[in-house]
Amino acid sequence: MEHTLSIIKPDGVSRGLVGEVIKRFEGIGIRIVAMKMLHLSKEEAEGFYGVHRGKPFFDSLTNFMSSGPIVVMVLEGEDVIRRNRELMGATNYKEAEPGTIRADFARDIEKNIVHGSDAPETAATEIAYFFSKLEIM
Ligand code: UDP
Ligand code: MG
Repeated sequence: MEHTLSIIKPDGVSRGLVGEVIKRFEGIGIRIVAMKMLHLSKEEAEGFYGVHRGKPFFDSLTNFMSSGPIVVMVLEGEDVIRRNRELMGATNYKEAEPGTIRADFARDIEKNIVHGSDAPETAATEIAYFFSKLEIM
């Protein structure tokens, strides 16, 4: 069974979209096996998004990600990395398929509601960034 990391970003939490996002996961049989709310420091956001260090959007992205509480989840299911990315839609909401989370709710390329791991290796690293083995059901 595959695992992936999902984050409901500060815009998703402040706009009251936590239930909406979770409903979409559960609606297609993706299981939540760990979940918590936290407020990242700037340094913690920079550590999480380390692969993007040096990119023009890095400073703004990490300010945004540390601007308010987020909900972090480990999702479990067959092919869940790809299926979660499919539910999320493209990074740029303007290019996201209709009916995806980002197409339905994002209005900004940065403030795009959700994060999802993009490959098995990044999923493992990202899950370990937030959760110990004991916290995953
Ligand atoms: N991002 C941005 N401008 C860009 C590209 C990305 O602000 O031109 C932000 C956006 O919030 C995105 C995050 O940086 O979700 C990480 O970028 P990535 O390319 O990994 O997109 P994702 O995997 O989230 O679809
Ligand atoms: Mg990414």
